Amino acid sequence: MAEVTRLSVARRLDRCTVLGPGTRAVIWVQGCPLRCGGCVASETLPFEGGTVHTVAELADWLDGLPGIEGVTLSGGEPFSQAAGLAELLDTVRERRPGFSAMAYSGFRHEALLRGGPDRRALLRRLDLLVDGPYVASRRHGLRWRGSSNQRVIALTGRYAHVGAEPDSSAGVELSVEADGSVSWAGVPPTPGFREGLEERLAERGFVLRTEERREA
Ligand code: SF4
Repeated sequence: MAEVTRLSVARRLDRCTVLGPGTRAVIWVQGCPLRCGGCVASETLPFEGGTVHTVAELADWLDGLPGIEGVTLSGGEPFSQAAGLAELLDTVRERRPGFSAMAYSGFRHEALLRGGPDRRALLRRLDLLVDGPYVASRRHGLRWRGSSNQRVIALTGRYAHVGAEPDSSAGVELSVEADGSVSWAGVPPTPGFREGLEERLAERGFVLRTEERREA
């Protein structure tokens, strides 16, 4: 029997316009081997935790989302689950040819190219890569990334034009779920943004959701 590939996911979002071109789904994977000072996704760092999904489940989810042009893979570190994510993109593209893919990585592009075959396989399937660790001392209000050492690299011609577009913060999006919980996406424009947001939401009785909702 064929082995079923699974991915450990911290969070998903159906629609987002601030983490890559156009309107995209987002998958934040669980687990990152790096520890950048000031990381805004600290709950995604441990490899334990998260919600385990099969590639087939995630492909069905992406395939069923209307009005998106692709997916952004964030984390956590997507290249720590490179083989599964490459399989996911192949599976979705069998049904949605032209579905675009962007990923974040704390590793530089050159290091990923020197990495194992799984990492190179994921790279070959990406249209855009935002590479490098977050460096707090180089924080800058740039589009889709938190610090100026990070690069937006077009790996295919699909988004080659983005390099010529204005490079300023894409902002942050808040989503209010049916159960009243609030989640956010984007690259925080100012230091302490997340802490301040959590505080203000708590004052109004809202809780910031940072993980997938588990069915009771
Ligand atoms: S690579 Fe990303 S997720 Fe990992 S520690 Fe750095 S900022 Fe956080």
